[in-house]
Amino acid sequence: MVDFALSEEQKALVDTARRFAKERIIPIAAECDRESRFPMDVFKAAWDIGLINPSCPAEYGGSGMGEFENALITEELAYGCTGIQTSLLVNTLALTPIKLAGSEDQKKKYLGMLTAEPISASYATTEPDAGSDVAGMKTRFEKHGDDYVLNGQKCWITNASFSRFFVIFATANPELRHKGIGAFIVERDTPGLRVGKKEDKMGQRASDTAQVFLEDVKVPKANLLAPEGQGFKLAMETFNQTRPDIGAGACGLMRRAMDESVRYAKERVAFGKPIAEHQMVQWMLAQMAIRVEATRLLYQKAAWNLDHGVRDPIVSSYAKAFGADAAMTTAVDAVQVFGGNGYVKEYPVEKLMRDAKVLQIYEGTSQIQRIVIARRICAD
Ligand SMILES: Cc1cc2nc3c(=O)[nH]c(=O)nc-3n(C[C@H](O)[C@H](O)[C@H](O)COP(=O)(O)OP(=O)(O)OC[C@H]3O[C@@H](n4cnc5c(N)ncnc54)[C@H](O)[C@@H]3O)c2cc1C
Repeated sequence: MVDFALSEEQKALVDTARRFAKERIIPIAAECDRESRFPMDVFKAAWDIGLINPSCPAEYGGSGMGEFENALITEELAYGCTGIQTSLLVNTLALTPIKLAGSEDQKKKYLGMLTAEPISASYATTEPDAGSDVAGMKTRFEKHGDDYVLNGQKCWITNASFSRFFVIFATANPELRHKGIGAFIVERDTPGLRVGKKEDKMGQRASDTAQVFLEDVKVPKANLLAPEGQGFKLAMETFNQTRPDIGAGACGLMRRAMDESVRYAKERVAFGKPIAEHQMVQWMLAQMAIRVEATRLLYQKAAWNLDHGVRDPIVSSYAKAFGADAAMTTAVDAVQVFGGNGYVKEYPVEKLMRDAKVLQIYEGTSQIQRIVIARRICAD
């Protein structure tokens, strides 16, 4: 039986996250954007009510919710601010590879750390010369006795400035490309790990993004997450699991853009009537509503697949690619609906336009999603 309705528990979860966005995120979003500041008190408050690490299994202290619930929370928090939402929920990107490949000890220790107190963890594949081309990474690992030693540089790492540990991907030999990649859990205070400058971004400015330098960083054998040759697969499977969340974030941003646009269009008068009564404005508003609904269906199907063991990564790419592009178009249209007022910081939509752009870039660009999709449909 097909059923698109949320359960009572899911509805309650959406209500909680929606209220949190309204009361804790929206009132400070513009200020955090201006100051490029992540509100740590909001992180703690969200952690206290169970909105952080939602998909962490119950046996490691988490609430054991599914990817579906994770995505529902994402949509609601993104309605408040996708910058704050990205930093609030990026733990999912770090805990997913541990869930997928971690030993029992690693899960107990690191998932346990995330659920014991409000701390952040980061996920690091990207380097200055290897973003879309993950297999082109140059950060090296070498075996030294029982330990591993890491050298290299990661960039664009969300929450790096304050994360307590990092899931770091590195290669035994760059010439091996994807066959050389492994993954490690590296604690922040490990000697040789240094966090670099925080990026001064166009949008999602409340989210922390920084570089990570690794100089002779000694990682114990116990923190090897994926051995040589297994890291690339783990990175790709992680993205498969987290890309529906980008679609969900896009959906939240679009819903916000639509609500702001509808409100403004009903108030703003031109040629003797509210602009909401002009057909070309109505067209933009209607397109927004269609995109919200279509993106929601895609991200929910992708998340549902993950929770039900349906192996179909292409749907995660649909949700990510469609949602990100739809959010960008919708935010641009929202600025258009606001006219000149859309172009100034006094109104909320210029921020939405800046925030939307990165949805098309992080966790695999819109081009990379098309490559994944085209390869799959051509292989059938
Ligand atoms: C705010 C922010 C937060 C981020 N957080 C993280 C994080 O927490 N952890 C992490 O590891 N990374 C993170 N990233 C990095 C992000 O995943 C990369 O920026 C992204 O994968 C693109 O890589 P790149 O910037 O090197 O661009 P490039 O790979 O250099 O791409 C540049 C352009 O070329 C296009 N392109 C590249 N290859 C192809 C191809 N084969 N065919 C067609 N077009 C192509 C791309 O689509 C893009 O338009 C973050 C980035 C940002 C901006």
